[in-house]
Amino acid sequence: MPLKDNLSKIGKYIEEGVSNVAYKSENLIEISKLNMAISSEEKMIEDIYIKIGQRIYKDFRENKITDKSLKDKCEEIAEIEKDINSIRKKLLKLKDKKACKKCGAEMDRNAEFCPKCGKEQKN
Ligand SMILES: [Zn+2]
Repeated sequence: MPLKDNLSKIGKYIEEGVSNVAYKSENLIEISKLNMAISSEEKMIEDIYIKIGQRIYKDFRENKITDKSLKDKCEEIAEIEKDINSIRKKLLKLKDKKACKKCGAEMDRNAEFCPKCGKEQKN
């Protein structure tokens, strides 16, 4: 094959390669946009799941849940809340503070009234 033909072939390959790269990078942008759209929609579903869960847990606290597996899961949450409360008590002790008996606001251990809600604190 004459050199001129070879060179023209190589030129064609390069052109195709460049347009292929452009096509691929356009695709990558579109793929990335679509993946972000899916993530955004999935986040919306997650938010709804959370609201459903919060509603179920509220019903559980009001003894309105009869389904056994839902009740078991709610009891798991209640246990975790207990743990959190116990950790909060340790924190207050370390900071030499106490929590309001009415609203839970943090205040000095010797405070007689809550600075937030005004409730008298009897030690
Ligand atoms: Zn208070």
